[in-house]
Amino acid sequence: MSRTSPAEPLLTARGLRKSFGSNEVLRGIDLTLHRGEVVVLIGPSGSGKTTVLRSLNGLETPDAGRISVDGGPEIDFATRPSPKERFALRDRSAMVFQHHNLFPHFTVLENVIEGPWRVQGRPKEEVVVEARALLERVGLSDKADARPHQLSGGQQQRVGIVRALALKPDLLLFDEPTSALDPELVGDVLVVIKELADEGWTMAVVTHELSFAREAADHVLFMDGGVVVEQGTPEQVFTAPQHERTQRFLTRIL
Ligand code: ADP
Repeated sequence: MSRTSPAEPLLTARGLRKSFGSNEVLRGIDLTLHRGEVVVLIGPSGSGKTTVLRSLNGLETPDAGRISVDGGPEIDFATRPSPKERFALRDRSAMVFQHHNLFPHFTVLENVIEGPWRVQGRPKEEVVVEARALLERVGLSDKADARPHQLSGGQQQRVGIVRALALKPDLLLFDEPTSALDPELVGDVLVVIKELADEGWTMAVVTHELSFAREAADHVLFMDGGVVVEQGTPEQVFTAPQHERTQRFLTRIL
């Protein structure tokens, strides 16, 4: 249930810091997501984008910084959040990974209902009806009884997206959702993500697909070396980047 008014941020992260041993990966990241907003994180490999995303849903625990979701209590990572606090954070979002991470021995339908039925404890009949409707909307209704290995990489990733949607999260997190796919399969997956964006889902997307970022993002963050170097509308970041590091990255990748 939403507690904030539409104008208030759904998620606010302030000063996120994270080191792995002596490797300082996040050096004070601020990020705000308003309801219905699509934020795209771009930047070179190793700049910390995935770690930001994983921090937003409690898969990674920052060393310092604060996150609050939907007007809920602020989690202060400097004071070691309790498991309860971290689970509360995880419950608000669903992540789509680079590799879909489907259970290989489950059918497609079983993969989709596992979270809402067994983890969230919702009635199985209701969850199955919703799962079938979601599979239909991504063109996979005929694959409900197939096993993941019988699907193409793009189809598997669409199941990964459906599995996230079935959890009815407030926030969708996409971690390089197309980077493990053959080039000809990328488009179908991006179309689904773009449709979800157009429907008003709130999402943060890490991607190297800059034309997608340009089209789908409301706000783009360019990260390098664990900091947000530059941010703004796609127009600002892609057409008139202010920082030399952004310019260099864009010339290299475009
Ligand atoms: P990006 O998504 O921009 O490629 P990542 O957030 O994946 O960047 O990684 C940033 C840095 O953190 C990299 O140097 C990576 O090797 C390191 N890193 C990420 N996760 C771990 C981990 N669990 N243990 C040790 N190092 C990690």
